[in-house]
Amino acid sequence: MMFNEQSAARGTYSRYDAVGPRPIHFVVIHATQLDYFQTVERFTTDNGVSAHYLIRHHDGAVTQFVNDQDVAWHAGNWAMNAMSIGIELEAFIDQPAPFSMVQLRALVRLLTSLTDQYQIQRDRAHIIGHDNVPAPTATSAPTMHTDPGLQFDWAWLIPQLGVINPRLLPPVIGQPIVSLKNTVSLYRQPDQQAPLTTEGPAWTRQLSYGQLFECAALRPDWIGIWYNGKLAWLQAEAGIGRPESGLQEAPLSGPISVTSGPQTAAAKLADLPDEYRAVVLDHLKGPELVDCAGHIELGPTRSAQLIWLNHRLGFVPASSSPIN
Ligand SMILES: [Zn+2]
Repeated sequence: MMFNEQSAARGTYSRYDAVGPRPIHFVVIHATQLDYFQTVERFTTDNGVSAHYLIRHHDGAVTQFVNDQDVAWHAGNWAMNAMSIGIELEAFIDQPAPFSMVQLRALVRLLTSLTDQYQIQRDRAHIIGHDNVPAPTATSAPTMHTDPGLQFDWAWLIPQLGVINPRLLPPVIGQPIVSLKNTVSLYRQPDQQAPLTTEGPAWTRQLSYGQLFECAALRPDWIGIWYNGKLAWLQAEAGIGRPESGLQEAPLSGPISVTSGPQTAAAKLADLPDEYRAVVLDHLKGPELVDCAGHIELGPTRSAQLIWLNHRLGFVPASSSPIN
């Protein structure tokens, strides 16, 4: 693809000059909450934030600020920055219809190219929003960014990448559940009058398209899933079920200690109880990337399993992940 190019200011990314290519497992999609020129200004001055790409709203023009091999500071979580490419969409997500079709088409072309080039899996566990990035610490979760938000149409995007939605079968306890609807509300009890599953903002109480959780219980017209350390309920309806092409691997079983990244210094985000089950989304293994004054040095090799903790991903370091 052809891009406009702008150089991000040096104090907004870490240069990767280690031997061998940077392992890239994720693409993180953002919304700027600034206009195009304000965003260019921000990334080209030493503000401590950048992204690899920015896609303009009115014409879908793509501008690259940071080389794919370098680590842009966009995700608010070092481990995720180290393993990802960040794409900003020029958009104000509190307004109606914040994204333009020409912009989304440009995003599809860019994602197709990047996932091809770096062998990034085309699914919801690897093409994620900033709102799916694990908080760097348990206490920082409420201040994490919520872009690209509930108006971003994952159910449209992922099939645009050539991914065929799985055929859905009836839910079975102990098997994964997936929703092909963009967002579905989660309740504390199998009852529409029950409170939603958390008291946080709306995006913390939604099952998003393509996320995989383990079915924990069934009631007439209701499905219970293991979510955020406990049982959460969603209404059974068309577009929600057990994916026929489900993962073959046994789920992780509790107790599970979930961290913000695979690195040694990663913070613990949650302890999941004995009865908990989580779908393993990926096994990540590679050298830890350490930022030394703006340059990357490679640390020891780490391995971790990737799960959905709640609306955000979480990591289960290899040593603390007994498998059924
Ligand atoms: Zn963001």
